[in-house]
Amino acid sequence: MQQSRRISTLNGDSSDDGWGLFNLARKRKADGAQIIELTQGEHDIGTDARILQAMNDATRRGVTGYSPVPGMAALRQAVAERLTERTGVATTPDHVQITPGGQAGLFAAHCAACDPGDRALFIDPYYATYPGTLRAVGAVPVAVEARSRDGFQPRGTAIAEKAAGAKSLLINTPNNPTGAVYSPETLAGITGAVRDHDLWLISDEVYDTQVWQGRHLSPRALPDMAERTLVVGSMSKSHAMTGSRLGWVVGPPEVVENLTFLANATTYGVPGFVQEAGLFALSLGTDFEAEIAAPFRRRRETVLRLVEAQNVVRAIPAQGAMYTMLDIRATGLSGEDFGRRLLDEEAIAVMPGESFGHAAAGHVRLALTVGDDLLEDAVARLLRLAAALAG
Ligand code: PLP
Repeated sequence: MQQSRRISTLNGDSSDDGWGLFNLARKRKADGAQIIELTQGEHDIGTDARILQAMNDATRRGVTGYSPVPGMAALRQAVAERLTERTGVATTPDHVQITPGGQAGLFAAHCAACDPGDRALFIDPYYATYPGTLRAVGAVPVAVEARSRDGFQPRGTAIAEKAAGAKSLLINTPNNPTGAVYSPETLAGITGAVRDHDLWLISDEVYDTQVWQGRHLSPRALPDMAERTLVVGSMSKSHAMTGSRLGWVVGPPEVVENLTFLANATTYGVPGFVQEAGLFALSLGTDFEAEIAAPFRRRRETVLRLVEAQNVVRAIPAQGAMYTMLDIRATGLSGEDFGRRLLDEEAIAVMPGESFGHAAAGHVRLALTVGDDLLEDAVARLLRLAAALAG
């Protein structure tokens, strides 16, 4: 049977969705190989025992039936308060749709913004799921390059050049994979282009608690932006709850109302016991979030120290998020080929920059998601391989 064009072209022209090397590493691991994985944004600690206890308590209290499709009132309230406090924009529960993770939020937000065939802008380098997410809603993904020499801060003029006929722009700060935290000037350029071209701004802020330099600024707080911004958030990174699949979209109430109809037609809500656990996790406050973020700040320093001691590989110092990008072009290999050599020769898995777009070619992304000693060993071996290749 013929499958729909939409489902059979989710990866665009590529047979690979960007996760090819990751999948190969996982296969080798399943076959018994010892591999150091610096690939997925998955914490090396599990979800905190207290959060799991809250989840368990909720199941025992019988919170196991269907839950309200927009999300539990108390959780919507807690998310609204969190955004109000952090962004200064008055946010109430009717601005909040709870989703099964940020990824589902990205899909839902684009459903709200785009009709089939609409151009949907996104910034390259990008989180690997972005183009597929845009195609999944039937939109046409259009990349806007953020240049390495600009510190991967996108320029408003580059957005404006691609904006004719577009409906939306997707941004991500703090950024995966580059670690860029968008500056006030960058956000002014972005929001200027968005207003001039009457675009929806979809702002992926799932790393808002992981900032090492500068300050996280939400574009929703900028003048006249609350009405055209859909913020995507998640408990995955901030609270080490990746497997719980708990996130949200925050936007104008009339959009949230339709997002609830979309959830009726798709997910039918998020399990109540997961939402209870999320509510408890949010009640642990910012100290807990800082505790979850701390290892990534520390490991970032370790990588930068090791890279500084040689001159083949160049690090792009991350201002935020749980990754470090390394420029390995001096080896003469692409990120993809270097990643493959690293996997074959050192049993270390990284993400090739090419998985994140053209602008990240010749780079590899390290997820700082293994213990400090293991990371130090892996980076030392990576640098040795790079030196050998560079001759
Ligand atoms: N956005 C970005 C930039 C990410 O890196 C991720 C996950 O790695 C997500 C969204 C999705 O996160 P989740 O669906 O786990 O909330």
